[in-house]
Amino acid sequence: MDILETHPPLSQFAFDAFRALSPTFMATLTPPERLIALEAFVCLDVASKGKVAPRELQIRSAIAARQGKNFLARAGTGTGKTLAMILPVLMLPKDSVVVTIAPLRLIQDNHVDEFTKYGISSIAINANTPDTPELWKVGSVLYGIPLFSHSKKAIKNHTQFQHYTVSPEQCGPYKGHIPKFATFLHDPKWAKKVHLLQIDEAHFIATAGQGKGDEAAFRPAFSDLGERLRVHLPSSTPCAVFSATMPTRIMDVVMKTLRMESDNTVKVLLSTNRPNLVYSTICMDGTTKNLSNLDFLAPQPFPPDYIPPRCIIFVDDKKRTAEAEEYLNSRLPPHLASKRPFRKYHSGMSKHYLEEIAAQFKRGELFGLIATECVSNVPGFHVADIRLIVIFGVTKSVDESDQRGGRGGRDGLECLVLTIAERWAFEHLAANDSDHKLGNKEKRTDEATLKYASLKLCGRRFLADYNEDTTPDALLCDSTCCDNDDPNFDLSEFLPGFSFDEDSDSEPPPKKTRKKYRPLLARDPLDTALRSWRDTTHITDPVLKSFPQSYILSDKTIALLARERPQTFRIPADITTFLNETPDWHTRHALDVLTTIRSYDLKHSTEELSSSDDSSTDSNSDSDSNSDSEDDDSVAYDSSPANSPPPSVLNSRSNTPDPVPPPPPMFTTTGRPVRRAAMEHAVSGIADQVSKRRKID
Ligand SMILES: [Zn+2]
Repeated sequence: MDILETHPPLSQFAFDAFRALSPTFMATLTPPERLIALEAFVCLDVASKGKVAPRELQIRSAIAARQGKNFLARAGTGTGKTLAMILPVLMLPKDSVVVTIAPLRLIQDNHVDEFTKYGISSIAINANTPDTPELWKVGSVLYGIPLFSHSKKAIKNHTQFQHYTVSPEQCGPYKGHIPKFATFLHDPKWAKKVHLLQIDEAHFIATAGQGKGDEAAFRPAFSDLGERLRVHLPSSTPCAVFSATMPTRIMDVVMKTLRMESDNTVKVLLSTNRPNLVYSTICMDGTTKNLSNLDFLAPQPFPPDYIPPRCIIFVDDKKRTAEAEEYLNSRLPPHLASKRPFRKYHSGMSKHYLEEIAAQFKRGELFGLIATECVSNVPGFHVADIRLIVIFGVTKSVDESDQRGGRGGRDGLECLVLTIAERWAFEHLAANDSDHKLGNKEKRTDEATLKYASLKLCGRRFLADYNEDTTPDALLCDSTCCDNDDPNFDLSEFLPGFSFDEDSDSEPPPKKTRKKYRPLLARDPLDTALRSWRDTTHITDPVLKSFPQSYILSDKTIALLARERPQTFRIPADITTFLNETPDWHTRHALDVLTTIRSYDLKHSTEELSSSDDSSTDSNSDSDSNSDSEDDDSVAYDSSPANSPPPSVLNSRSNTPDPVPPPPPMFTTTGRPVRRAAMEHAVSGIADQVSKRRKID
């Protein structure tokens, strides 16, 4: 039965989202493509019960699949990539099959969870999939009857898994046997049902599928996907590939392997830039064995109200995660140490344990996770407000460090990506010192990484060039860009616990003349106060109630307001000018916002604290004491009460629910609302057409 006959055209939410699609984007669609776009809205609206609407990436993916075209997306996690994989499946007939190739079990598990959420029966096929006859005999996996419940009725109804998320090794001979899934592929009847092939983390085809120098490929099955998989599927089955890493050299390998022809492939290359990330690289003292390089995370003595920025520390191996956990916790005062707020997190741990740790981290009960690469590949790891990524020891490739950095600031707010690079990388000794002998790790590190670690130019520009990101957004940044192109860059502004080490070679930090902001630790409570004002206004205003909260103030705008020093805003017009808002907004909100900030300041007398900044900004005093022993760190904190957060900081942190990640930009456009009746009319017109066309189909 047609979906449009059984369901009202669109929920209010989807309706608003459809209306908010950018006119520029809509103009690029042909009339038939617009119909597919609307159908995508309807399908997702039904599947999500009016809670989720597609964005441009997902619409494009749906259109390509419907038109039988291949699809190539450069899109990282956080861009709605998984939904771009789900949406085309929602729009396929129920008896069709979709195969997704994913490199890691954690990703496959996440696919199963996510696809199932939208009502798509989904199963992960990997080395761990039970080898029981119950699961695998025809009528079970083949026809999708859930494990151990293959009733005759179910077999008769041919209830089928619609979605198989598979590791590449399962598609052909592996360790001397033919995996069960490979036998499906050789069954033309089954293969014929595959309507769509998707590859997640498609760069693996080039990076893991191919060897490098003397090193053999560590997942050769990836480079065989053409032979193992593609050729067994109908040539009309489109292939959709997704990755955050898609420079030409990788794209070419991926497309060739999967036999994707250029003229039948739709490419969507989103910017790889994250404007809210700030990049900095410092030189490590000794090797990664020297954990005192991380002392700034747990300074001694530990100031009573200090909360380190919520962080992930990436280390080379599992052993180091345990050592760093032990080390950092042992530096904390006993009442904190007993809670072990720094925790290791790696793929050797059980799924249950990882979930528990991730949940505690999300609830703000932990300061930081010490992880191997695993966390950067867990799409289900939804902690949006990470303020610091530490890459402790350079990665093998720039792609890897890019992915690690990409874990930070998913809420769109500022996050520092700090690379602590070994000296051989930081100074690129291989190129600059003829006597230098290559170490083992150094041999495995690629040239681009060494260039990045020893970079004297803008890190963002380097990454844009490396990723071949030529989009207009490639170099955007929200506030500070990186340590190299800002002469006033001051690490201690981001990391109050940071004291520069005594390393004779490192330059003392430059004198700060940088723009002054509200002390770091006083921003959170003001942020909370502004959000609370906004939420109340939103609920109580009869007109605003029906629009997103961001019409009043977005989370990001609130963060910007909370960061400014009190003296920036003296009259309501200062607020309006600062936010570049409309006269209408000014009339409605400017005075209220100013009042909220003022009453916060009165209550906490931050006005006074902040103006004392002029002589000692944030943890500026660190620099005077930094050559002293750790015991003198107290000077940095105790001498300036401004650096102590108001007592409410700890409480507000732990009592405030995690901020919901900001809605995608298309829902937060500040454009004028179109009148609902006119919009309804327009949508129902298209809906009719979709309905008619589907009947013809
Ligand atoms: Zn820069």
